Amino acid sequence: MPLVSMRQLLDEAARGGYGVGAFNVNNMEQIQAIMEAARETKSPVIVQASRGARSYSQDRFLYHLMLAATELYPEIPTVLHLDHGNSVDTCKSAIAMGFTSVMMDGSLMPDGKTPSTFEYNVSATREVVELAHAKGVTVEGEIGCLGGIEDGHGAGLDGLSHLTDPDQAVEFVKQTGLDALAIAIGTSHGAYKFTKKPTGETLKMGRLIEIHKKLPGTHLVMHGSSSVPKELQDIINQYGGKLKPTWGVPVEEIQLGIKNGVRKINVDTDNRLAITGAIRKVFFEKPEEFDPRSYMKPAREAMKKVVALRMTQFGQAGHISDYSPIPLEEMARRYQGNGNPAAA
Ligand SMILES: [Zn+2]
Repeated sequence: MPLVSMRQLLDEAARGGYGVGAFNVNNMEQIQAIMEAARETKSPVIVQASRGARSYSQDRFLYHLMLAATELYPEIPTVLHLDHGNSVDTCKSAIAMGFTSVMMDGSLMPDGKTPSTFEYNVSATREVVELAHAKGVTVEGEIGCLGGIEDGHGAGLDGLSHLTDPDQAVEFVKQTGLDALAIAIGTSHGAYKFTKKPTGETLKMGRLIEIHKKLPGTHLVMHGSSSVPKELQDIINQYGGKLKPTWGVPVEEIQLGIKNGVRKINVDTDNRLAITGAIRKVFFEKPEEFDPRSYMKPAREAMKKVVALRMTQFGQAGHISDYSPIPLEEMARRYQGNGNPAAA
């Protein structure tokens, strides 16, 4: 089947009360790892690419690899999503290339670093919603700013200084008409999220629940939600790596989020750790190896295991054939009709 709308996947997830992991990719092996995990667990899939990934893969490689994924895994509803679009133009170019979902991150200015104003965020997001919905493409927005920096994107904040204000979130959704909303509740991008296991002081699940109560019909998105498991850190350090001790977002907190409106969970760091650990292990144990397949295969397998585990933990496993995909043209018609494709 062709790439599908993210809105439909998230509407179905809301109906079924589960979350869907959104996994970042830059290359073929990462896409293969996700698709194999999805086949094994019978999961719908969100593959996402940042601006950094688009430039690393020259855009076209990424797009054609995703087309290959839809050919080789025709039974899996698969979304191609733009992670952290920094401007209307970035979103436009992604839609033109065939992304079925885009994030317009207007919480930062187009430099991807400076926190913006509410007015700027509304106007940029609104503009993307209009041009995306006309093509049946889904839009994620962000209100409040996440901590950390990823692929050069982020204000380098500590994660707690620009939390999402629940009333502002309501106003933002009303004024933009977006499909999914990323909120800042204390999480950060990258491996170094927390210096100890996060508590209510550092991870504001109460705020998430408050936002969901005010916006029960909006699909919430948790960014920076790798769990950064100690086992994966240990493998890297055991084979010559030098990661500093760090903590991510515990899976049970994500599951609490899923009970409270979280439908999309962004995971990147865990997969990076799995890949790096597997490669280091081969290099350490077999220094005579020089065929890239000898370490890329175990790397791909290690990522697949992490993705399959997250798909099961988030609840998307087993939901591959609950519904038939709505073509983007039909989604566009539904947005035009009543603005709510789920109710059509
Ligand atoms: Zn993010």
